[in-house]
Amino acid sequence: MMVQATLNVNGLISDEKEAVVSVLDHGFLFGEGVYETLRTYNHQPFLLDRHLKRLNQSAEMIGLSVPLTNKEVAFRISETMDVSQISEERYIRLLLTRGVGDLSYDPSVCRKPSFIIIVKPHEETPQELLAKGISIILSSVKRNHPEAINPRIKSNNLLNNALAMQEAIKKNADEALMRNYRGEISECAQSNFFLVSKNEVLTASLDSGLLQGVTRDFVLEIASEIGVTARETTLLDEDLSAADEMFITSTTREILPVTIINNKQVGSGRPGPLTLELRKEFYKRVSVLTSKAVDA
Ligand code: PLP
Repeated sequence: MMVQATLNVNGLISDEKEAVVSVLDHGFLFGEGVYETLRTYNHQPFLLDRHLKRLNQSAEMIGLSVPLTNKEVAFRISETMDVSQISEERYIRLLLTRGVGDLSYDPSVCRKPSFIIIVKPHEETPQELLAKGISIILSSVKRNHPEAINPRIKSNNLLNNALAMQEAIKKNADEALMRNYRGEISECAQSNFFLVSKNEVLTASLDSGLLQGVTRDFVLEIASEIGVTARETTLLDEDLSAADEMFITSTTREILPVTIINNKQVGSGRPGPLTLELRKEFYKRVSVLTSKAVDA
């Protein structure tokens, strides 16, 4: 059962018992859709402009266009948030699918895309987990080849990610790190991956085939602002064994330390100093950006 979700289906706001999407929607039939996940801080969607930019890019990459302007999307989000009577910060998911049409791959059979917004309480990462760090596995599931479903598309077609997570869950791990078709490290099933080696913060380059995470970009910018060397590069298995620190980034999990990989301790086995510094700087910026928005 879902918790206190408020849904907006093509402009119609309701709760999860009443929200309806047709089974003939190509999002359901063929996984033809794209999405974004946002969260609020201080009850405002964080980095909304960056998420909407990526939504438009993802849509374009599957031959769809967002049927609303960014302003209209922002308005729909705010209307949906107003209806959802919750005191917690919100989790917001935007979904855009090809829409309803006959059972054909011909996109012209779908006249109108579907635009859905899901708003529910955001679940903060428990303090114990932040303090302890998470455990991840190096998955046997490969990240999609960029010439198949390009990982740069934030696609609703998430079976590959779901299979990698199934493997992680079976092994009692919190995330699944994936290699690409060349055997290089790319990203996790639900987040981007960083490691720290010899005081440098490293993450796989976009060429390794991964989602250009909004948080990943933000963290790279923070590192450069505070004078920490951060680079996009090719990461291999041996870089994992040599790493002093690891962390993952995503909108919902922010910067989360990784202290175990494949049952082995990472570095000291505790969240590392550079990870903690970046996390501190991240929250500083969250607070500046969200308080500015309130004053405006
Ligand atoms: N990579 C994958 C595969 C993801 O699903 C996500 C988030 O859902 C991310 C990376 C992190 O992206 P962002 O920081 O934009 O949330």
